[in-house]
Amino acid sequence: MSHPPCPWGYEKHNGPDRWYEYYPSAKGHNQSPIEINSKEVHYDHSLLPWFASYDPGAAKTILNNGRTCKVVFDDTFDRSVLRGGPLPGIYRLRQLHFHWGSSDDQGSEHVVDGVKYAGELHLLHWNPKHSNYADAVRRYDGVAILAIFLKVGKPIKREMKRILEEVGAIKSKGKEAPFPNFDPSILFPKSRDYWTYHGSFTTPPCEEVITWIILREPIIVSPDQMAKLRSLSMNSENEPFRPLVDNWRPPQPRYYRMPAKA
Ligand SMILES: [Zn+2]
Repeated sequence: MSHPPCPWGYEKHNGPDRWYEYYPSAKGHNQSPIEINSKEVHYDHSLLPWFASYDPGAAKTILNNGRTCKVVFDDTFDRSVLRGGPLPGIYRLRQLHFHWGSSDDQGSEHVVDGVKYAGELHLLHWNPKHSNYADAVRRYDGVAILAIFLKVGKPIKREMKRILEEVGAIKSKGKEAPFPNFDPSILFPKSRDYWTYHGSFTTPPCEEVITWIILREPIIVSPDQMAKLRSLSMNSENEPFRPLVDNWRPPQPRYYRMPAKA
């Protein structure tokens, strides 16, 4: 599938309501995010606990692409992997990134019982039974995203510090900095409880290939930490500062899908 080049974003003229014009998948019936009504979630007793084993040496760089802050990992072999839960095999960690709001009452993509969190962390993994990542994003079982909500409060998750102290080095779009020796499992909350459903990427082209594993317990961040994310610019260095905020897609129709829990 090829698409005409189109600069999508989160503003009125290029935002989520218009993505389908260039990316028809965005109007599909298995889109993400969704609103989760915790009372409607069904028990699935076949669901297993999930496990991550991440190699800190796989972390490579941190970057600002004008739409998010992303950490990239070496995924050339089964080095950092996610398995169990709803997954049929092991999945390789490729990158993590964040979605966040201009204020603390919005920023997450998934919504739980009507509540939007201040942010949402996505750890993206792909299924190496497909020959490469480009192939995996075309397969139903190609990609698994572990999602963790960010909630402003106390006591804070100190482990967020490492990423946020690097934010100064990637202030503007196109900036990239080395980010060696990082194990993202330090960001996990205590509880491994999750909801799962099948959906899509939340950014164009919105391919419907994602097994979502959404952790029910949020991690706690401080107002200062959120301010650091909001200090990134969606513009390049030689352009005026434009805060990179509200890079979230609102919930999409659920149709016949119902999230499950173990
Ligand atoms: Zn994401």
